[in-house]
Amino acid sequence: MHALVYHGPGQKSWEQVPDPKIQEDGDVIVQVDTVTICGTDLHILKGDVPEVTPGRILGHEAVGTIVECGSGVRFLKKGDRVLLSCISACGRCRYCREGHPGQCLNGGGWIFGHLIDGVQAEYARVPFAETSTYKIPAGISDEAVLYLADIMPTAYEAGVLSGRVQPADVVIVVGAGPVGLAAILGAKLFTPTHVVAVDPAESRRKHALSFGADQAVTPEAVRDVVGDLSGGLGADVAIEAVGIPETFEQCAALVRAGGHVANVGVHGKPAVLHLEDLWIKDVTVTTGLVDTVTIPTLLRLIQGGKLDLTRMTTHRFPLGKAIEAYETFADAARTNALKVVLQRA
Ligand SMILES: [Zn+2]
Ligand SMILES: [Zn+2]
Repeated sequence: MHALVYHGPGQKSWEQVPDPKIQEDGDVIVQVDTVTICGTDLHILKGDVPEVTPGRILGHEAVGTIVECGSGVRFLKKGDRVLLSCISACGRCRYCREGHPGQCLNGGGWIFGHLIDGVQAEYARVPFAETSTYKIPAGISDEAVLYLADIMPTAYEAGVLSGRVQPADVVIVVGAGPVGLAAILGAKLFTPTHVVAVDPAESRRKHALSFGADQAVTPEAVRDVVGDLSGGLGADVAIEAVGIPETFEQCAALVRAGGHVANVGVHGKPAVLHLEDLWIKDVTVTTGLVDTVTIPTLLRLIQGGKLDLTRMTTHRFPLGKAIEAYETFADAARTNALKVVLQRA
């Protein structure tokens, strides 16, 4: 088969590799039908994730069709269309049993395109298949559910739910990339009075408005806007969806007393937490890796017509054009790309 292989920082290729094989009796092999690229893949290619070793097939967001089942698989069968979650769950360890498979102790968690071969390939081995995949209801397209593999549950769980968005809240979402846009969609489910998106890039502010933000402002303008909307108190919830010190510190500076800062961004550098200001303000600060345990809820919202994620897709390519797709996605400032979709011919 062919796959997108990481060859060390800055190096990747779409090349022929051996077909994946069943290794454990709970594995399935999936033919990848629809797959996307994540900002995390770009981090890996920069060398920011040293656990990813050269020779690794990248990718952790895909939809496919089961072509082979291990001997221990009882509730999935050949021909089933499944969503592959970015998080694998052993289903047995303490964290999995407590609803936090992102922290799985038995070889689950974020493993695709990280610790094992990923899904930017013609076929993929899926471990813990029965507790890690989701059957796709008939009549629902691959693309309609594709973003449930990672970005939508990430924004919803680590941003909206951890941030405890409530009706009538003033919510700021700092960063209007794909995950920030998903956070806007998720926050709106709770009827906040205002969702304010913050991004220095005008093109991203436009996306934010089209995804339902009530206002989209620059980092310089947000303090006055939030002050006006909240009677000077600050935001009820500040969702950080960038992953740099400045944006985290801005969220902590803009939240009201009693409010919530929900960090979603992937950070590579330390940020300053001003406890000398915050200790007296009853503020919560949360961090979180997605568990994807909200996929069933989000899937029902899609089925019920209440959540449309297909508008994330700005570019489409055949699977064999993975390199072009990466170039388009990585150069978002020029291409205005949000998510790029690769599909089996
Ligand atoms: Zn991802
Ligand atoms: Zn587990």
